[in-house]
Amino acid sequence: MFRCTKCGSEFPDFRYTCARCGSALLLEGAPKRWEPRGAGLWRYRSMLPVSMSISLSEGNSPLIRRRDSSDEVFLKVEGDNPTGSFKDRGTTVVISDAYNRGHRTAVVASTGNMGASVAAYSAYANLAAKVFIPPGIPEEKIAQITAYGAELVPVEGGFSAAVARARQEAEAGAYLASTGLNPLFIEGLKTIAYELFEQMGVPDKIVVPTGTGGLLTAIFKGFRELSALGVTDRLPQMIAVQAAAVAPIVEAWKEGTEVRPPPEGATTIASAILVRVPFNGLSAIEAMRRSGGFGVTVTDHQILQAIRALGREGIFAEPAAAASMAALEQIEIRGDERVALLITGSGLKDPTVLLRKDL
Ligand SMILES: [Zn+2]
Repeated sequence: MFRCTKCGSEFPDFRYTCARCGSALLLEGAPKRWEPRGAGLWRYRSMLPVSMSISLSEGNSPLIRRRDSSDEVFLKVEGDNPTGSFKDRGTTVVISDAYNRGHRTAVVASTGNMGASVAAYSAYANLAAKVFIPPGIPEEKIAQITAYGAELVPVEGGFSAAVARARQEAEAGAYLASTGLNPLFIEGLKTIAYELFEQMGVPDKIVVPTGTGGLLTAIFKGFRELSALGVTDRLPQMIAVQAAAVAPIVEAWKEGTEVRPPPEGATTIASAILVRVPFNGLSAIEAMRRSGGFGVTVTDHQILQAIRALGREGIFAEPAAAASMAALEQIEIRGDERVALLITGSGLKDPTVLLRKDL
C-alpha cells in the first residue's frame, strides 16, 4: 500500500504521487523476509517490491574507516556505483519496473546525477530516455548523460520547472523515473541501510547530504524495516546536511515551519543537492525527528575544504558528496559512538570546481 507523506491518503496500487494532494508517496507495509542472498543491491531482493530485470551491478559500495580521526567515522563511498552516484540504487529498481510494465520511454528531471543514471539503465534496458535539466549543471554530467544516448532537454527556470516537464511527459505515457515522484525509487535507495547494517551494524549517527530528502528518507526506512522484522532493535540518528544558501529542509526542521523555498537566485557549488522545492522534504524531516536527529548547513568554502580533506585520505568526492564531511565538525561524537558519512557521488562528476580561485 502506498501512503501520502503529506495528507496520509492510501492507495492499494502503484502510482507516482498522491491523487488527492500531489505529494510524494511511500510504500508502507511489512516486507517480507530478511534473506540476503547473492551480491550487490539485488542481494536484498526479498525486501524489494520489484523483480530484477535491469541491473548494472550496483550496490555493494565500500565502507572505509577514516584514517585521520580518533573517532570511529566511516565513509560509505557511493561514487563507486556504475554511473558514479548513489542514484543507481533507485534507478535499477525503477527501470526494472518500467521494463517489467512494458514501457518504451523513461523520463526524468535531474540536477545531473539522476539523469546520467536513468540514461545508463534505460540504455541497457533498450528504452528511450529523456532527461530534463535546469541551467547550471556541470558539463561533465551533461557529457555523461549524452554518452548513454539519452535525449537531453534544457529547461529554463530551475529544477521545479524540469520536474513539471517530466510530469507532462509521464501523463502522455512515458515512465516517470524521477526521485520523489516515484515511490519505488526510495525502495532502491533504502538498500544502503541494509548494506551498512551488514558492514558495521547500526551506526549511531548517519550524515546525509540532502537535496530532495529522498536519500535520508530511504535510509531511515531501511533501518525501520530491519527493526520491524526483529533483525535489529536499534535505529540510527539521521542527520541532514544542506548547503547554507539552499537549505529548505534544515531550515524547516530548525524553525518548525513548512518547507519553504530559499530566495530566488540562491546557489551553491553542491549542484547535486541544489533543490529549492524538496519533494521528499516532509518525510526527511519526520525521519530526523523520529530518530532524534538534526540538520546542519555548510558553506561552499567548507565543502571545498572537505573535498581536499577526503582527497588526502584517497577519496575523490563531488561537492555535494563532500557536504557530509564538511558537516562533521558541527557534529558531537560522544564516547564510542560510530558515525557513517554518505559520500554520495564521485569527484569525477564535477572535477573543475577544485580549480576555482574564488572560494
Ligand atoms: Zn496527499
